[in-house]
Amino acid sequence: MKCFAHISEEAVGVCGVCGKALCVNCSAYSGHSGVCPVCRLKEFEQEYARNKSSIIKTTLIAVAIAIAVIIITVISSLYYFLLGVLLSGILVLIMLPTIRRNRYLKGEIIKIRTFLYRGHAHI
Ligand SMILES: [Zn+2]
Ligand SMILES: [Zn+2]
Repeated sequence: MKCFAHISEEAVGVCGVCGKALCVNCSAYSGHSGVCPVCRLKEFEQEYARNKSSIIKTTLIAVAIAIAVIIITVISSLYYFLLGVLLSGILVLIMLPTIRRNRYLKGEIIKIRTFLYRGHAHI
């Protein structure tokens, strides 16, 4: 049995998700977790999309708070301004791990795509 992605390589195992045959390189690629690069790519792409939409939503909320704060400041006091800055700052801090995770996912998605492309996989 040959690897699904690297047609010249002998398979050493199969993907636990889709059942495709994996060569030693494909198996090692996902840390011998029994998941093929294609399934790993799908997993990462889905998480990336989910994270991206929550980052966008949070950014919009932060922008809305900032605008509200400017308006309140104009008609009110500096205390509201500081409160708004604090709230926006907290929102950004909450999203930081997600933003970092998505940077990592993007890198991995590009790496896996490049890896699969080199093997002339048909996905
Ligand atoms: Zn798979
Ligand atoms: Zn392979």
